[in-house]
Amino acid sequence: MERDSTLVILNGTLIDGAGNPPTPNEAIVVQGNRIRSIGRLPEEVRLEDREHVNVIDASEQWILPGLIDGHCHLSFGFPQMHGAPSSQGTTSAEFSTLRAARNAQTVLRSGVTSLSVPGGTWFIDVAVRDAIAAGLIEGPRIFCAGRFIVTYGSITDNEPSWVGTPEHVNGKLANSVDEMVTEVRRQCKHGVDYIKMADSTWGNLQTIAPHELAAVTQEAHRRNARITIHARGSGSTRAAAEAGVDWILHADLATDDDLEAVADAGMPIMPTMTFLTRGVEVGREYGRSQHAVDAMKRHLDGAIHVLQRARQLGITLLCGTDSGNSPLMPYGELHANEMDMLVQYGGYTPLEAISACTRDTAFAVGLENEVGTLEAGKLADLILVTADPLADIRVLQGGTHLAAVVKDGKIVDHQAQTVAPGQLELQPASV
Ligand SMILES: [Zn+2]
Repeated sequence: MERDSTLVILNGTLIDGAGNPPTPNEAIVVQGNRIRSIGRLPEEVRLEDREHVNVIDASEQWILPGLIDGHCHLSFGFPQMHGAPSSQGTTSAEFSTLRAARNAQTVLRSGVTSLSVPGGTWFIDVAVRDAIAAGLIEGPRIFCAGRFIVTYGSITDNEPSWVGTPEHVNGKLANSVDEMVTEVRRQCKHGVDYIKMADSTWGNLQTIAPHELAAVTQEAHRRNARITIHARGSGSTRAAAEAGVDWILHADLATDDDLEAVADAGMPIMPTMTFLTRGVEVGREYGRSQHAVDAMKRHLDGAIHVLQRARQLGITLLCGTDSGNSPLMPYGELHANEMDMLVQYGGYTPLEAISACTRDTAFAVGLENEVGTLEAGKLADLILVTADPLADIRVLQGGTHLAAVVKDGKIVDHQAQTVAPGQLELQPASV
């Protein structure tokens, strides 16, 4: 019954995500969870059959592919727990899971229909992904990694060596090829979509050897998992290119030579400038030191150079914000901000920025032929907005101009009442 339901979107302006100029929309017909046709309304679809046909009038609205955030963490960071460092989860898997489910709901209601989650605590993101796919809870499509695989001195290895990285930390120590490959196998067994390696926090030293990265990449690929790496440094970016990872996160300090190696190897880069911009703009209000804010400014400058150079070299740029990595990056507000970064710093037109963040970033959610563009046959993930994103790309941010969200062919109640996460005082008695 539900599989046969039809949704028809009439009128409005269609921005298809494939890069075509906007066109007046006649009718988008969604059957079940897929787009059946775009253009003239097929004769057999009877709009007066309201029992089976749901109609949305998008007059004076713009229709786009559902947003995709290629870098968002759900299971640590925000809303912050009393006493928990920002880069770690709580010590309760149960509480963190429920919080992550709530975060996923907030993300979807802001118009984000697909999410790539490069790392979290336990296998919470796998569980949230599966619960959403099973229809138990509401949320975007999720493509996720497990805990970051790290060595001593990498990002997330914040405790002394005699403490290590307990399960509630978003990193997992592995200091040899054997340990790394074992962890890849463990994570694949538990259902991750991809492996997240992580070099040093700011790229000032290289903590993962090229042969280690190559071994992990081979093992991940052997098990049909993808792999990405947090690589801000020059050496780690180069090693990632040579190892053949599927995409590189950050690459802020990559030299022009490193970027040529990336271009030769052919993988995309996801610069993640939204986090750096947030750090520069409001980092001090969130307790970051001036030293840390200055570092973020330097990295933002580096990322802008990489963005521009990568584009010249024909490297595909993916869009991710790092939302949820800390209280600095609240859910539901910043997921479309990376488009603005591409326009501001990369010389993209708004139309090009939309395609980068939808069509291109679909790769980071493993759905490159299924979502990200509005075409007959694709999964029916789309949003309607009340302002023209080609006139001002920022209207896509924060769900402020959302008229409707459709995920998997179903209309999402995006205005459902929720407590603003910033208002939550999270202090469960057991933690
Ligand atoms: Zn991240």
